[in-house]
Amino acid sequence: MSIAQQLEEVRQRIAKAAHDASRDASSVHLLAVSKTFPASDVRAAFEAGQRAFGENYVQEGIAKIAELADVRGEIEWHYIGPLQSNKTKVVAEQFDWVHSIDRLKIAERLSAQRPEGAPALEVCIQVNLSGEASKSGVEPDEAAALAHAVAALPNLRLRGLMSIPEPAETLDAQRAPHARLRELMDTLRADGLQLDTLSMGMSADLEAAVLEGATLVRIGTAIFGKRTYTN
Ligand SMILES: *Cc1c(COP(=O)(O)O)cnc(C)c1O
Repeated sequence: MSIAQQLEEVRQRIAKAAHDASRDASSVHLLAVSKTFPASDVRAAFEAGQRAFGENYVQEGIAKIAELADVRGEIEWHYIGPLQSNKTKVVAEQFDWVHSIDRLKIAERLSAQRPEGAPALEVCIQVNLSGEASKSGVEPDEAAALAHAVAALPNLRLRGLMSIPEPAETLDAQRAPHARLRELMDTLRADGLQLDTLSMGMSADLEAAVLEGATLVRIGTAIFGKRTYTN
């Protein structure tokens, strides 16, 4: 199947899940995760109408942004991977969104390094719902303090929360962590933060995420195919 056809299938999955959840399909944004795939694949998806793309690795993302410079104004680039201090500058300069804020130091650097005159960098806080020390993301009980601190930074706009739950087989098992992220966001909103983005759901658990209120699903494999890692 072509990228255009796979993209259309993903759009239909979103539409059906939204219908099942009694939600408007337009309330679920599709982020096409293009990591490991060449710029030509991003362009194919772009030509099929896709406008938001997610990248996990700084150098790879920057290279693709450069290759698609002719349509830069029409694309929204989202950085969704782990972020180290020495890479924040280029991310602050080149990307529109960062989903993986998990400590204040990174957020402070992104805010300080956002170019003057650029719109605020849209950010989400990544929450570690599986409780494993090895996974990135802030612990749920530390999310509120981090969210308030990030929301106060001048050149960032805190939009919501992101998570990457452990893979699970059944729909109910997939729904549970997504429900926890939604409840956490509800708590933060009740606490006065203006948040509108729940970044959750990937190729295997898109339906569970939409049922639990995802406003942005991050889909790689179902659009671009299976990834092969070379490094
Ligand atoms: C790779 C990745 C995705 C996409 O995963 P698929 O299972 O290929 O849809 C989504 N979010 C993050 C943070 C990723 O790293």
